[in-house]
Amino acid sequence: MGMKAATVATILMPSGKAHLRMEAMMLILWIACAVVLVWKDQIALLHAGLFAGAYIFSMLLLSPDLDLAKSDAFHRWGILRWLWLPYAWVFRHRQMSHHLLWGPLTRMAYVGLAAVAIGALVRLGWRETTLGSQPPAASILAICLGVYLPNLEHILADRLTTTWRRKRRKHRL
Ligand SMILES: [Zn+2]
Repeated sequence: MGMKAATVATILMPSGKAHLRMEAMMLILWIACAVVLVWKDQIALLHAGLFAGAYIFSMLLLSPDLDLAKSDAFHRWGILRWLWLPYAWVFRHRQMSHHLLWGPLTRMAYVGLAAVAIGALVRLGWRETTLGSQPPAASILAICLGVYLPNLEHILADRLTTTWRRKRRKHRL
């Protein structure tokens, strides 16, 4: 993992509010697509709802900028914001946290681990409620897509709005 300074990036990146505005606009587009797909019986209403819920959760609370302890997303966690201090400490700004695959995966794993740890601490009935019945694959897919898209949009916006590039280019788009 590179340990070079990334200070240039922090000056050139879009603000948290600019990200939120753009991702909210994209959500309207995604919901319009989902409405058409539900109307055409291509997907279930439940899955469209799960997607939208996961998207909003990810847009507000799983921003790649959680790698900064002063970011909007960090503050949106309220009294639970301290949970992200180790994450912000471990992940340097706009490096692994902004990777198209590892970024979202690290945050989902992080939230999952935090939920399990807190659940174990307060002894919630996690087993009965969440592990009792296996959720169908389509629901999981809808949630993953909802979590992933805001991250993808954020990272692309970061990359497009700055000429700063250090990583090797992968011509995927
Ligand atoms: Zn960012």
